[in-house]
Amino acid sequence: MATKKTETKSKAAELSEKLFYKAKNTYEVMSNADVKAAYDYCEDYKKFLDNGKTERECVKSATELLVAKGFKPYSLGDKVKVGGKYYYDNHKKSLVAFVVGTESLEKGINLSASHIDSPRTDLKQHPLYEADGMAYFKTHYYGGIKKYQWTTIPLALHGVITKADGETIDFVIGEDESDPVFYIDDLLPHLAGDQMRRSLADGITGEQLNILVGSRPFDEKTSEGVKLNVLALLNEKYGITEADFMSAEICAVPATKARDVGFDRSMILAYGHDDRVCSYPAITALLAQKKPAHTAMAVLADKEEIGSEGNSGMQCEVFFDIVSSLSKTFGVDDAVVRANSKCLSADVNAAFDPNFPEVIEKRNGCFVNKGVVVTKFTGSRGKGGSNDASAEFVGYVRNLLDKAGVVWQTAELGKVDQGGGGTVAKYIAQRNIDTIDIGVPVLSMHAPCEVVSKTDVYQTHKALEAFFKA
Ligand code: MN
Ligand code: MN
Repeated sequence: MATKKTETKSKAAELSEKLFYKAKNTYEVMSNADVKAAYDYCEDYKKFLDNGKTERECVKSATELLVAKGFKPYSLGDKVKVGGKYYYDNHKKSLVAFVVGTESLEKGINLSASHIDSPRTDLKQHPLYEADGMAYFKTHYYGGIKKYQWTTIPLALHGVITKADGETIDFVIGEDESDPVFYIDDLLPHLAGDQMRRSLADGITGEQLNILVGSRPFDEKTSEGVKLNVLALLNEKYGITEADFMSAEICAVPATKARDVGFDRSMILAYGHDDRVCSYPAITALLAQKKPAHTAMAVLADKEEIGSEGNSGMQCEVFFDIVSSLSKTFGVDDAVVRANSKCLSADVNAAFDPNFPEVIEKRNGCFVNKGVVVTKFTGSRGKGGSNDASAEFVGYVRNLLDKAGVVWQTAELGKVDQGGGGTVAKYIAQRNIDTIDIGVPVLSMHAPCEVVSKTDVYQTHKALEAFFKA
């Protein structure tokens, strides 16, 4: 009897192994050399993060990487050649880069779409004011933020100002160790009785997100003119006047550099992982292409955090104008090109957080160190607003990732009816392109500092590389 019981048990174990699914941990699958390659890869990713804290800066950094590997500027209508590498700079805020495949364009494009804008606070058009001996900037936040998180942290200003004569100045203040930084103040706990009784959503209001920018009076005898002194300094350095703020885009972002997290250095803390943590792998995966069969294309879009609007967002026609222009060049029908194209919409998902287990249904959540996460659908309240990828397309991606040895997992964003969110996926899918979301699990998404795992970042690069090559 004892023998029989053992046999039954081993049969169950054998069958369990065959029938059950369990997502793997990256460290279980990756060799030591792979892990080292992942950590080395992330050193360059950290540089990309530090150099690009706005969409404009990301376009610049990504373009530099592309140009160094022989990519050439492309304009709509340009002739292109097979194997040629090109990039299209769209209003300095979004970027499309592609390698022309050896197969006919009619076989479709392998497209990745990610975004390079991140939540932050933007200056209003009349930002500067003085109150009780201090000077401040008024702001309007950009994207979905928890406002209280943006107080009492060092902020840097990144921006462009177009003066009345048309000259445009780019500037960054607060990133160099010797620079001053900026600051949104908050109440001391001793006097915060009333504030602490309000909800987190109301503890700090939008109109309280005012940035402290000076306290020294222009006229030291009367102690007056703090605002004037700030303007005088700006005029001296940049030649601007108060009116020039009206034609400016100035963003306040955390003045922090990307840093390793943990004794084991297995994670990265940084501002703006969402969605540079997918945009950077899209660029490196494209750079790794020699002569892909399908045309490989990476779109780095702007404005995802506010609905993909405007002429730099994914809803802008230009991305499809490029497909249509390429189709004309090769004498093929762009509708056929799109019908045969595939898209990995590369965006982050919410990593399961043991401190907040109640918002994610664990069987369908994603975890740090379980690889790139494939998200079949996003949306909220019954998948509303979601591109729900087909079983066939999920099957294609699953097969692709398994064959390429990519560590991956699948998840949705949070529990049913807990909340939700969207990505650029639906704006590509509506052009009749098979589209699915894939990306990196992130802890504390949309906070001034977010955290990701290094091996997950690397698996995302590997996934995109395999996709472009397919
Ligand atoms: Mn995102
Ligand atoms: Mn986001």
